[in-house]
Amino acid sequence: MKGYETVIKGGKIVYPEKTVKGNIGIKNEKIEYIGPDDSICGRNTIDAGGKYVLPGVIDPHTHPVYLDNIKGLSKTAAFGGVTTVIHYAYAKPGKSLAATLKDYIKEGEATSYIDFALHGGLFDAGKQADEIPEAVELGVTSFKMFMAYAKLGWMTDDYALAGAMDIIGRTGGMACLHAENGLVIDYIQDKLLAEKADFKERFPETSPDIAEAEAIFRAVQIGRLMKCPVYIPHISSGEGVKILKYLKDEGCKVYAETCPHYLSLTWDELKAMGSLGKVGPSIKTDKDRIALWDAIGEGYIDTIGSDHAPKDKKAEDDFFAAPYGTPEIETMLPVLWEFGVNRGRLAINRLVSVLSENTAKIMGLFPQKGRLDTGSDADIVIIDPDEEWTISQENQHSNAAYTLFEGKTILGRIKKVLSRGRLIVDNSGFSAESGSGKFIKTNAG
Ligand SMILES: [Zn+2]
Repeated sequence: MKGYETVIKGGKIVYPEKTVKGNIGIKNEKIEYIGPDDSICGRNTIDAGGKYVLPGVIDPHTHPVYLDNIKGLSKTAAFGGVTTVIHYAYAKPGKSLAATLKDYIKEGEATSYIDFALHGGLFDAGKQADEIPEAVELGVTSFKMFMAYAKLGWMTDDYALAGAMDIIGRTGGMACLHAENGLVIDYIQDKLLAEKADFKERFPETSPDIAEAEAIFRAVQIGRLMKCPVYIPHISSGEGVKILKYLKDEGCKVYAETCPHYLSLTWDELKAMGSLGKVGPSIKTDKDRIALWDAIGEGYIDTIGSDHAPKDKKAEDDFFAAPYGTPEIETMLPVLWEFGVNRGRLAINRLVSVLSENTAKIMGLFPQKGRLDTGSDADIVIIDPDEEWTISQENQHSNAAYTLFEGKTILGRIKKVLSRGRLIVDNSGFSAESGSGKFIKTNAG
């Protein structure tokens, strides 16, 4: 009999291939034993009988610069079963990419409750791309650029995109591209402005599925030319999925992510929430929602990210002027559990692929992260499938005063979360130390 620091007993352990009843022994932050041996014991015992035991969620898409900073975001993340976050570190025009990354690493190491990695964000790729090799040295290997938001001055044109992807391809990394045709979208917005259109009613028109599909196609073809793997965050439409399928079937190196809100809501359901529901790309129709679920089931969509970006806004704010973004990270796993697993749209084994194992593999964090296995970090979530609860802003830990999922009933509740073996969430209790999260280098693509 071997003594562990913590043992988790009798849970249903979920892998991408199977679900098996078993036990886990944790020592020195790692899983040291996982298997059928009921006799293992430790200083702390967690009874997981009747519960599901999942690998901690890896959220590849977070923005810790709005209502939640790195510290606050990592807390609301932990309550959502997320044990690793990959933040977008945006270098705004005139800023150094490397200096921006160093600032994020410093703040994260000082304050984050959970482990974190970074994507670099290039707002002025023409000038900042030269710093990509230095970023890779720092442990940041994925780089976000926008094909949209020309009017905001965030868009990278195809010339600068090719240049940056050429460098990323040669250095060994991955481009993350917000894929929507920015100039076409700006034209459509201007046209609606001239018509004095009601932007709330017509929001999806300003983020058309075809503009997404076109940009996905273009992004991946430029990637092929420059030998640069491409990651498409937040795919929102059936048209986007159609092009993604074509590209993947052709053997192109492209990875795809969608978000919980595109899988669980439609604009018709959401528009009563006004500006709170403004996210980019827009939430679309039921047809799109079904296409996204199907693409996850068929393996075309690899990951799910939260796009957590809570902004200070109210439902009645002017819709056109309101910023994009909402709190998402704490509701991500519960929403996917209810709308996916409970409603038969998503097998529980596929859930852990898209929330953990695939993400770890694409970002180069595997096998340290992403799977419950001997030698891996003991990042673990325990869910009681029988407890019913209702999402409300009041039971969330984001600084946002709203959630898009207000009033949604969820059957299945996160009971415990372990980060490298430390029990950080225990029902409603929280016991992590600020700064205990570590910066983790990626090896993306
Ligand atoms: Zn985002």
